[in-house]
This record gives sequence, C-alpha cells and structure tokens, in this order.
Amino acid sequence: MAKRDYYEVLGVSKDASKDEIKKAYRKLSKKYHPDINQEEGADEKFKEISEAYEVLSDENKRANYDQFGHDGPQGGFGGQGFGGGQDFGGFGGGFEDIFSSFFGGGRQRDPNAPRKGDDLQYNMTITFDEAVFGAEKEISIRKDVTCHTCHGEGAKPGTKKKTCHYCNGAGHVSVEQNTILGRVRSEKVCPVCNGSGQEFEEKCQTCHGKGTENKNVKINVKIPEGVDNEQQIRLAGEGAPGENGGPQGDLFIVFRVKPSQTFEREGDDIFYNLNITFTQAALGDEIKVPTLKSKVMLTIPAGTQTGKQFRMKDKGVKNVHGFGYGDLFVNVNVQTPTKLNDRQKELLREFAEESGEKVEEQPTNFKDRAKRFFKGE
Ligand SMILES: [Zn+2]
Ligand SMILES: [Zn+2]
Repeated sequence: MAKRDYYEVLGVSKDASKDEIKKAYRKLSKKYHPDINQEEGADEKFKEISEAYEVLSDENKRANYDQFGHDGPQGGFGGQGFGGGQDFGGFGGGFEDIFSSFFGGGRQRDPNAPRKGDDLQYNMTITFDEAVFGAEKEISIRKDVTCHTCHGEGAKPGTKKKTCHYCNGAGHVSVEQNTILGRVRSEKVCPVCNGSGQEFEEKCQTCHGKGTENKNVKINVKIPEGVDNEQQIRLAGEGAPGENGGPQGDLFIVFRVKPSQTFEREGDDIFYNLNITFTQAALGDEIKVPTLKSKVMLTIPAGTQTGKQFRMKDKGVKNVHGFGYGDLFVNVNVQTPTKLNDRQKELLREFAEESGEKVEEQPTNFKDRAKRFFKGE
C-alpha cells in the first residue's frame, strides 16, 4: 500500500508550526490509541500517525522528508516497517546507525499516549439470602486514585514546567553498548521525563510526582438478584486511574456466596431435604416446608417412599439474567424410629402379625444387648 503523505496523515499544512504538528498528533493519537480505540484498523492508523509525527516533529527528518519524500536519501525511512523497533536515526548513513535500529534502539510505544488504567478485582463474600434476593452493600477497597493535591499532574500546585535536565527536552537519551558487533548506539525513552521532554520545578508532596495516591475507597455495590457463587459484575471506571488522560480501568466484583443452612443450590434450582416419620410416610400428611420467601403446605401422599422428590415450580431463585425462576425440589427422607417404648413395640409386633411378617427382633442398643446377655437370652 502506498504511503500517505505525512502532512496529510496529521491533517496539517506543509508549513505547519511545531506546535500545530504536536497538537494534531496529540489529538489523533488519543483518538486512535489501540488501548482506547478497539475499532478495526485503529492500530494501523495509530502507527501511521506515530510514524508521521516521528518525522515531522524532528527538524532534520522533516527537512529530509520535505526534500526527498518517503524514500529519503538513504533508501527509506527505516525499511523494517513501523512498529518493528525501527529507528529513524539512519540518515547519516553510518554503520552504527544502521545497527542501532536492531539493538534495542527501537522506540517503544509512545510514553505520552493516553492509556487506560488497570482493571482490578475484588472478591466479595455475601450470604445466601443476599445472593438470592439481591442487596446493596458498601465495600472498602485499597486502590490507586488520582492524587487529590495535584490532580494527577505530579507537580506541586503552582509550579511551572521546565525542560528536562536529563535529556535536555529531547524526550529520549542515547545509550552506547558493547556488543559482539562492536559499540552500538541506541536511543531510549528518557527515564526522568518519560519522553515528555519536560519536568516540573517541584514535585507534588503528596504523591512525589507519581500523580496517584493509594487510598481506601468506599464503593457501593449492587448485588444482582439471583447472582451465584463465582459470578462477577463489572463496575466500569472504578479501576485504577488511566495515564496521560486515558480512561480509568474497571473493577470486577467476584461474588463468593456462603452456603445456606436450609437449602442447597444448583443454578437457579434449590433443594430442601425433608425428614418425615414412617407413619407420615405410610398414612400421608400435610407438612409445612420452607421456601425462599415463606412456608407452604406440602401434601405427602400415603405410601410415600424415601427418595421421593416433590417439585414446586418457580419457587427457586430468580435468574440473574432475567430468565424467569428456578424450581424448589423437596427430597423426602423417611426416618426409622430409634427409641420405642414397650407399648409402641407391642403395637408394631401386632402390626407385623397383621401383615403376615415374621420378625426376628434384635436389640436396639448396648444397654438392651447387655440386659439380654446377662439374662442369658
Ligand atoms: Zn500529587
Ligand atoms: Zn527527559
């Protein structure tokens, strides 16, 4: 694809001033920065903008470009294609300059481009009822926030900017390294000004120039009705602050739901274990069972077996995405009596006889067994 004219890329005239070029670049790079703009082609556009700015912001490169166009006097503005770590310093044509483009001399992403802040995660423990019915709760989290003293500038309020003492305003510094190929010179982003070419006369005393401070922040969390264990919600813009005017990151709340004493939950369905006596099972009964909101009468038909399951439609949890309600399942467990008095035993023996059963009765507990042993039974 033919390269577009650099002036055209930035939308400035051929005789644009340095400031105009800078302004145009700032505006466009914010718009197309890949961390902000997720649209297809934004990445390419951003590279194109950055490349145009690299050349037009440098007097020598700009003069060369004006004279020779994209091809340049040495056969191109860095032949490897932008973004691959190329260096535009090759106009002198020296051996070292060519190699500098391969050895760490590549410009990293523009340190002044706006960047979205980090996403954060918070694990929030909630009760079964809070998950089922939803709730609003305040949490306190520790996170980086924009410094309240300097509003993120990093400077003591009222102080002016001055040219960076380390790079003399260039924004990058030249470093020399010994390699197997000899001494190699490369350029790095200035560690003092981070590429801006400017520093503040006095740093902010609250944040020591960082622009952020670590604080406990209270956040109101709306627990969605029907949320389940391990599910999460995203609170847009509640993450870490962005850089260079970029947007804030997001906060993800992951819910840890404490189990219920009464119910077990599987998705939107809940389960309740109901113990009934063997007489209730045999004769049938009406029993009060709990649901999420109140108690309801459940009819146990005569002859109900252990393991029988009753389903109460739509008595489960409300679906968190709004797809109706789950069901409540009642699992029946028939209990055998363990303590019988003599009269009860008598009645059961009669019952067995009536049913035509011959039962070899066994002692029920240690005391019984001991009694029988000493009686010689
Ligand atoms: Zn500050
Ligand atoms: Zn600097």
